[in-house]
Amino acid sequence: MLEVQELAVRYGKHIALAGPSLKVSPGEIVVILGANGAGKSTLLKAIAGVCEGQATGAVSVSGEPVLGLPPHKVVERGIALVPEGRGIFGELTVRENLMLGANPQRAREEVEARFEQLTRLFPKLNDRARQVVRTMSGGEQQMVAIGRAMMSNPEILMLDEPSLGLSPLLAKELFQTLKKVRETGLGILVVEQNAKLSLGIADRGYLLENGRILREDRASVLLHDPAVQAAYLGGA
Ligand code: ATP
Repeated sequence: MLEVQELAVRYGKHIALAGPSLKVSPGEIVVILGANGAGKSTLLKAIAGVCEGQATGAVSVSGEPVLGLPPHKVVERGIALVPEGRGIFGELTVRENLMLGANPQRAREEVEARFEQLTRLFPKLNDRARQVVRTMSGGEQQMVAIGRAMMSNPEILMLDEPSLGLSPLLAKELFQTLKKVRETGLGILVVEQNAKLSLGIADRGYLLENGRILREDRASVLLHDPAVQAAYLGGA
């Protein structure tokens, strides 16, 4: 379980996050919606220990505090971030990228078993294991990025705008992929501009505006709420 309590982040004088609190339970997909500049990326980066700003508040995984730890220690506590732009190595093969994900101490045992579990979930990763990643489509590369994060044996998987740059069809496939990941028992925290698709698969959602949480509800409630539709779904 990921717990964020009153997380505040400032970049110099600019307050990017004004103390939101949230939770992600095992086997739950939670989506954060918000306009550009709302603080969505800052939230994920601060949790992952890769934020340049000054952070205060508390973040814990299964009761263990993580805020302020360097990124590799946050990974060791069970948090994996798939950053915006994916952060994978284009010149390496799919398998090489996935194996790099298994570098943390917590992931070094049963690497092959985890690889097999992953390829059962996403057979394409096995079929393409020897392919150089830069030659793959955007959707396939996103799958590699998710796979690499899962190889670190996380409890919580965080994704920053995973559908960015994907066609509508590939974005849809990507979110189906996340549903499969949820079945493995991981908690998933996803920041997204595509409100319709993400709320369509999520369990709960938070609306973030100017670094504050305006509202929290079940995803199905948010998806059908006229005010949410007007603000985040283009009136759809
Ligand atoms: P987007 O969808 O556009 O990425 P976001 O909701 O992810 O937006 P953040 O990237 O978290 O928003 O940015 C929140 C605020 O903090 C913005 O006003 C942004 O300009 C500012 N900010 C983000 N990173 C930095 C930084 N490294 N230095 C200074 N200000 C920053």
